[in-house]
Amino acid sequence: TAIELDALQLHVQPQISLQDYSVVGAEVLVRWQHPEYGFVPPIEFIPLAERTGVIHPLTYWVCRKTFELGKKLQDMQGDLMLSINISARNLQATNFTRNIVRIAAETGINLGNITMELTETAVMLDPVDAMRVMNELSDAGIRLSIDDFGTGYSSLAYLKQLPVHEIKIDRSFVKEMQSSNDDQVIVHTTLVMGHNLGLQVVAEGIEDAATLLQLKQLGCDMAQGYHIARPMPVEEFLTWLQQHRNPQTMSATLARKV
Ligand code: C2E
Ligand code: MG
Ligand code: MG
Repeated sequence: TAIELDALQLHVQPQISLQDYSVVGAEVLVRWQHPEYGFVPPIEFIPLAERTGVIHPLTYWVCRKTFELGKKLQDMQGDLMLSINISARNLQATNFTRNIVRIAAETGINLGNITMELTETAVMLDPVDAMRVMNELSDAGIRLSIDDFGTGYSSLAYLKQLPVHEIKIDRSFVKEMQSSNDDQVIVHTTLVMGHNLGLQVVAEGIEDAATLLQLKQLGCDMAQGYHIARPMPVEEFLTWLQQHRNPQTMSATLARKV
């Protein structure tokens, strides 16, 4: 019903390159504004949607809206990589890739500008099917990312076989990096491993300048977190983007917030 009543909303959180602080992409996060209960966070309704099967129309809705945004950016000559969160259940749907390719054709998005994020747990739930669908998605030109990396169970040998282009270090490790030597070691090791496997590494949950600088020094490729920008509604994001296109403006913003 929420989908039909247009009660779902996309919020968008920018991702920057740690090489030159340019905006390189954004993650799309779904929000539900309930008429009675107010704002319902995704960690509450996504598991419910997964159990009831509503996750299928929900994901297609998120994809269509994201592709429309991507097309708009394409037309403005400002292509950005947009990341969408995909559930384990989506990989089990018949024709998932075909439906995505159809929505892409309908919206005119170039699928090379789309990343799909999956958690390790989602992939390991049904590794054979997951691998098959991930290969299909990758063949369609979509980049694949392992979200919340380090929190789930996954075999590195298996990860190596997947058509994955990126890993996202979970924010729980990033958050404590400054105070916990263990977490710093985990982040560093993940970066080295990811790079040795030819993957790009994104750090999420960066909340302060010191953490951002440390990740840059460790050679992390991309960064996402409240210190850069909070997730925001699409219109606000487009305005933010205009203001932060210039890496120098971005650097100034990052430095100011120390
Ligand atoms: P995620 O994919 O790991 O998304 C990152 C979450 O971290 C987002 O929470 C984001 O708002 C939050 N975050 C970003 N930067 C910071 C920071 O600096 N500090 C802190 N403390 N948090 C930060 P959100 O939007 O509540 O989403 C939670 C989870 O819900 C997501 O985790 C994702 O797993 C799921 N989700 C969100 N949208 C969708 C969707 O469209 N489909 C599916 N299947 N899952 C979604
Ligand atoms: Mg994510
Ligand atoms: Mg995550």
